[in-house]
Amino acid sequence: MNSSKDGMARLALLGLPQDDNSTFLHGPRLAPPLIRKALFSPSANMFAETGIDLGADGLWQDAGDLPLSGLTRQDAHDVIQDGVAAILARGQAVISLGGDHSVSWPAVRAHAAQHPALTILHLDAHPDLYDNMEDNPFSHASPFARIMESGCVARLVQVGIRTLNDHQRAQVAHFGVECHEMRHGVDVADLTLDGPIYLSIDLDVLDPAFAPGVSHHEPGGMSVRDVLHIIQNFGGQLIGGDLVELNPERDLNGVTAMVAAKILREMMARCLADDATVDSAGG
Ligand code: MN
Ligand code: MN
Repeated sequence: MNSSKDGMARLALLGLPQDDNSTFLHGPRLAPPLIRKALFSPSANMFAETGIDLGADGLWQDAGDLPLSGLTRQDAHDVIQDGVAAILARGQAVISLGGDHSVSWPAVRAHAAQHPALTILHLDAHPDLYDNMEDNPFSHASPFARIMESGCVARLVQVGIRTLNDHQRAQVAHFGVECHEMRHGVDVADLTLDGPIYLSIDLDVLDPAFAPGVSHHEPGGMSVRDVLHIIQNFGGQLIGGDLVELNPERDLNGVTAMVAAKILREMMARCLADDATVDSAGG
């Protein structure tokens, strides 16, 4: 991303309004405009906690939503991969707004093409490693199985996991996934991350008390502060990511959309700060 032209925003937000690959409920296709609305809500300001003013001109750009409705699942994935790749090719980092978690497979493919030693930091209640669910190997229960089979990333580090069954434990072992289960607590120092990092956040990593607007309520999860602390403190350079699984049809008073916007603000700030650090180091 260091090749971006002078004056061009270094970061783009891209909406991926798709939930055809959800297994239980639908609704995440409605999320991108509501996350944007919460991001700009007059009830808050545009500063990240780390001091970056995301309201400043030229720091980032809203790339809008990709047109995914009415497409087959496969065509939608192709449009996502091509859409993310096109933004990366013009020298911008991309943070995608889901949509359900199935969007991560094509989004990661596009990033991995630019970063051969990519590490994925994946925050989720679920490992999303099913070999196949409901006869759809591209459902939101399987994106990280497809990613690991492809060999396109160096490491998959999962945090917040609390739904492992026998099949998924076997998949963790088979793919060498670094799975940090929620029952053992959350310590960002245990993650030993370095190099380029793609951050994928499924909002159901949060306890439903903090984020009721998700399709799969899984109690015993993280606080909002746990997630912010990870974003602000993990090692390595954040080069892009996605924020998925907000289901507005389950939200209460828009609180989960505000949580999503808060998390997004810190993701954006970390991405911009890491990009500036790499630049000033002559990287
Ligand atoms: Mn997920
Ligand atoms: Mn999940």
